[in-house]
Amino acid sequence: MKISSIKVSEIEIPLNKPFRISLGIISKARIAMVEIQTDEGISGFGEGASALLITGDVLGGIKEGIKILGNAIIGMDPIDIEKVYWAMNKTLMRNPAAKAAIDIAVHDLIGKITNQPLYKLLGGYRDTFITDLTIGIDDPEEMAISAKKAVDQGFGTIKIKVGISLKEDVERIQKIREAVGKDVRIRVDANQGWNAKEAINIIGKIAEYDIELVEQPVPACDLEGLAHVTKNTPVPIMADESVFNASDVLNIIKMRAADIINIKLMKCGGLKEAQKINTLAEVAGMECMLGCMAEESNIGITAAASLGAACKNITRGDLDATFFLSSLPIKGGAVIEGGKINLPNVPGLGLMI
Ligand code: MG
Repeated sequence: MKISSIKVSEIEIPLNKPFRISLGIISKARIAMVEIQTDEGISGFGEGASALLITGDVLGGIKEGIKILGNAIIGMDPIDIEKVYWAMNKTLMRNPAAKAAIDIAVHDLIGKITNQPLYKLLGGYRDTFITDLTIGIDDPEEMAISAKKAVDQGFGTIKIKVGISLKEDVERIQKIREAVGKDVRIRVDANQGWNAKEAINIIGKIAEYDIELVEQPVPACDLEGLAHVTKNTPVPIMADESVFNASDVLNIIKMRAADIINIKLMKCGGLKEAQKINTLAEVAGMECMLGCMAEESNIGITAAASLGAACKNITRGDLDATFFLSSLPIKGGAVIEGGKINLPNVPGLGLMI
């Protein structure tokens, strides 16, 4: 079987309401959806999401990248994923969203060709995956109301965005803990909003509210600062924007700069690179979370949840993007009930045009 053609379409979906993080405000998802066709009439689907505040990938660049990568892999057998991976990396530097779009579609194809759901193809450690729900930055009272609503909808873990004002950040955590009670897990994401000293100071104050972890407290490039925070706070520290790909995680491991790694397909360029990150982290004794961009749809979420379910070392999920979208671009894929993601027991990603 050979890859015969690649179609790219552009999709823009408004979010239900603007989502605020310390880096800025996100109001719409802009996605390049890809369909890879084979000479035997089987198609695979993938997506590349533009995440301006995190990766800097813009939609036009993703679409152009997919076209360039597509030309490099036409004629290849989709089963030869190692060949596809190296063809992509030798053809185009960076542009991880374009690579993720192709990588996801090729994995969808492999699932269909081998008649296996993607979570089984990738390891099959579990057949479901648990996600948190993220509360964007708002007034502390509003965030507490949203957090309580999420718990009532069945979420056992809440992720709280902070990083704008040190005083209000403490108030946010305090109010949310009061609203959700003691049994709900709370994780905190500063999206690079503090410097190392501020982070140590504020984490010392919020630790009393039983925080599961703090994500990316300091700027992405400040690995020394990240390592300093990790060594000097009692709460586990997760690296997100500091880790795009496998070589980044190697630096984190060498410096012991974080306790946990947040893997995202749109940062690393797809499932194959994500597996490498997880393997390195696992060997180093670091667990991983599978996260997403706020701009992803059910295509990226199903792919990510499939990998999260498949791997023992991926112990946490932050795959809530579809809750914030006003519509979905394609039917099928993962079905989410409360915080539980049920993966389709059909070949590939289970998406339907
Ligand atoms: Mg994050």
